[in-house]
Amino acid sequence: MRRTVCFILLLTLPLLAQSWGFFGHKRINRLAVYTLPSELMGFFKEHIDFISDHAVDPDMRRYALKEEAPRHYIDIDHYGEDAFERVPKRWDSAVSKFTEDTLQAYGIVPWHVNRMYYRLVEAFRRKDAAYVLKTASDLGHYIADAHVPLHTTENYNGQLTNQHGIHGFWESRLPELYADDYDFFVGRAQLLSSPLESIWKAVEQSHAAVDSVLDMERSLTINYPSDEKYAFDQRGNAVVNTYSRGFSADYHHMLNGMVERRIRRSIIVIGSFWYSAWVEAGQPDMDTPIDPAVLEAIEQERKEMEAKKAKNGIFGRAHEG
Ligand SMILES: [Zn+2]
Repeated sequence: MRRTVCFILLLTLPLLAQSWGFFGHKRINRLAVYTLPSELMGFFKEHIDFISDHAVDPDMRRYALKEEAPRHYIDIDHYGEDAFERVPKRWDSAVSKFTEDTLQAYGIVPWHVNRMYYRLVEAFRRKDAAYVLKTASDLGHYIADAHVPLHTTENYNGQLTNQHGIHGFWESRLPELYADDYDFFVGRAQLLSSPLESIWKAVEQSHAAVDSVLDMERSLTINYPSDEKYAFDQRGNAVVNTYSRGFSADYHHMLNGMVERRIRRSIIVIGSFWYSAWVEAGQPDMDTPIDPAVLEAIEQERKEMEAKKAKNGIFGRAHEG
């Protein structure tokens, strides 16, 4: 029996190891390209496979870098009821008030998004096409994470309310089952007057949905036959024990479009960050050749991160992306 449980856990854990799932992040970055104005879209479209494939690099980096994990979330409720008033939006002010150690301990996603945004502005200014692509795809990942409600709470995997597994359920399994039915026509990227304010707004909206995410799963569970909540399901070549299709369908229905709305919002916000960075850099013409050696080095870095996965496992929260 014990062996069976371990076997199930081993197969289940990888499902929970990525925010929005690898599939979700890749798709979100890809779709964000289509929100861009034509002067910028050409460059991104030419490299759309890179932007999409590398959408998952920040999750890979977690196998190599201890500092990586807190960049993907913020447990805003750690700071109390009126956290959005208490926590300064600017990094320096927040460090002065709470210390950097505290901020790192509870996650830094909004500040990291802001930092990546300015890196992207600089890359555009230098017309460093390879670095623009790398930074833009990383930035897309962190912005998408900030749109996931369970990336904004200490109860990130339902571990405080006996709802273990809900993290991967909401952000990976539901999109994998239903994203093909979502409407991904999200309109045009907007010029952001304050990227920092914009990402904080995203975090606030995500956090406002946390109670619904948890409460609906809890009330559905109470009324659900306990032997039908989980089932074995095929995933690639593996059979995994996960939330059953029936339970997933009912929960998804109760959420009433929430997953779709958060993905749609991620896409437009990512496009808006890319577009605003390019405008802030003076709208450089990005029709510049990319040194293949630089792209090769980026690919190489990713291979090394993947290799470290086997050696280190993951730093920080095992369920997080
Ligand atoms: Zn992530």
